[in-house]
Amino acid sequence: MTTRRTLVAANWKMNGNKETVASLLTAFKSGMNGSSDVAVFPPALYVAQAAELLKDTDIAYGVQNVSAEASGAFTGELSLSMVKEFDCQYALIGHSERRELFGETDAQIAQKVKATLESGVIPMLCIGETLAQRESGVTEDVVRTQIQAVLDAVGIAAFDTIVVAYEPVWAIGTGKTASPEQAQEVHAFIRGMLAAEDAAVAAKTRILYGGSVKAASAEALFGQPDIDGGLVGGASLIADEFVAICNAAK
Ligand code: PGA
Repeated sequence: MTTRRTLVAANWKMNGNKETVASLLTAFKSGMNGSSDVAVFPPALYVAQAAELLKDTDIAYGVQNVSAEASGAFTGELSLSMVKEFDCQYALIGHSERRELFGETDAQIAQKVKATLESGVIPMLCIGETLAQRESGVTEDVVRTQIQAVLDAVGIAAFDTIVVAYEPVWAIGTGKTASPEQAQEVHAFIRGMLAAEDAAVAAKTRILYGGSVKAASAEALFGQPDIDGGLVGGASLIADEFVAICNAAK
């Protein structure tokens, strides 16, 4: 049986400043018990500060978005060569806020995943349905379409490397966590879809849950057979809370 080590990631979104980056990372470094892999996604301007604070630790870091373009006239964007120069291990791709607020499409997201893999950075691919989609019973169709766009672009073997984050949009920042059973159902669907292409790869793919994860809900979520960790927004800005979530992994 493949054992997938729990991975817990902090998505700070557009929050914080130099002082909070320093205080949160100092607390993370001293609080982690090593039971899960940990990654942080600060706003891009603070990646250099995070890199300095996290050198010689096991805590990984990355960017919240990347461009699929190599360089040139793309005002406001960040290239993967820049991401590499700061030794980022991960790039968050296709977060629902990028999809909804910035109009990113499945096709663009697939190209970002492809470029990220080619650069040697690990893509953390975010997918998930809205409340209206869940209520109309199309959750699996939505998730299937989002994954299929990436499968078409990079193939199943890439899911050896890609981390998937299932984040139901209705649970993000709302305080409404999916129940462990609700989340497990979709995680099993995602793994089944990957297994239909290659069972050995699917057994290795880490599939994280995101959406109002808190210390109180982490253990039950991470205890589900197909939930391999969490992508944490709000609670990752509270040092003790995030440390407790990371330490909830068995
Ligand atoms: P939340 O955010 O934990 O605040 O719901 C999760 C995310 O958006 O990645």
